[in-house]
Amino acid sequence: METSTEDVEPSVAAEGVTAQAADGAAATPVVPTAIPPASLSPSRAGDFMQCPLLYRFRVIDRLPEKPSEAATRGTLVHAVLERLFDAPAAERTAPRAKSLIPGQWDRLRESRPEIQELFADDPEGERLAGWLTQAEQLVERWFTLEDPTRLEPAERELFVEAELDSGLRLRGIIDRVDVAPTGEVRIVDYKTGKAPRPEYAEGALFQMKFYALVVWRLKQVVPRRLQLVYLGSGDVLTYDPVLADLERVERKLLALWEAIRTATETGDWRPRPTKLCGWCDHQAHCPEFGGTPPPYPLPVRAPESAEGAQGRMGPD
Ligand code: SF4
Repeated sequence: METSTEDVEPSVAAEGVTAQAADGAAATPVVPTAIPPASLSPSRAGDFMQCPLLYRFRVIDRLPEKPSEAATRGTLVHAVLERLFDAPAAERTAPRAKSLIPGQWDRLRESRPEIQELFADDPEGERLAGWLTQAEQLVERWFTLEDPTRLEPAERELFVEAELDSGLRLRGIIDRVDVAPTGEVRIVDYKTGKAPRPEYAEGALFQMKFYALVVWRLKQVVPRRLQLVYLGSGDVLTYDPVLADLERVERKLLALWEAIRTATETGDWRPRPTKLCGWCDHQAHCPEFGGTPPPYPLPVRAPESAEGAQGRMGPD
């Protein structure tokens, strides 16, 4: 889902760094106009794996992005599914859930005024009506996949944060946590898109294993089940992790974080063009599309230091 609070919240300013002159010559100390990343969320980890330059634009430059209909619909549907559990179990019906949509849509528009522009060119409201109907269909489909009258979530929209031994902070928002009477934990995430083909399931599970790692670090409990509920296609993808899975994810995240730190210090954020570029809001700033990134807002280390940092990179 699209979230903002789970995203990186940098808090540590770089120290002892210098601006690199255009000719690579010695540099003078500068005051950074941004702050380096201090933690990692599944979304931003995914950004870096997709394209390091995209990560830079989102986390360091914080370039604005246009709201999209699909992402906004996802946010709306998530809000409805979360709020439905406020009702007594027997009243968690599809009509009740659909009745929540107008109010949640109003709340969303109030809290994020930029969303207004989504339908600014739709004065008759026809496109908005179709969009809301699609949201209703997604909500209805959920009832074919899960039965909320038989669920009592332990947590909804749970913000989690844990620090690894290395000092790396992981954070994120879990859509739903179910805890069985036996104490077994199930982590559930709703997706308003379609389930990936089997060969891409591992990528889809990365986010869930990330959350499982955070829960394990926080509670010393390995979640019994990870569950992705795809409302777009009506599929449920589950995975029962073992400790070795979480240890593997932790090693992967540490390697990723090392690569992010190196790029942050050197200012070397490579574009990695893929077919996903079609969804990127930043083509105008991307060299792959003839654009120029904005001036790097952080100091960079001198070249020899940068090479040293690069040399430390690699799989753990
Ligand atoms: S357009 Fe593609 S290559 Fe360029 S920043 Fe966006 S995702 Fe990366």
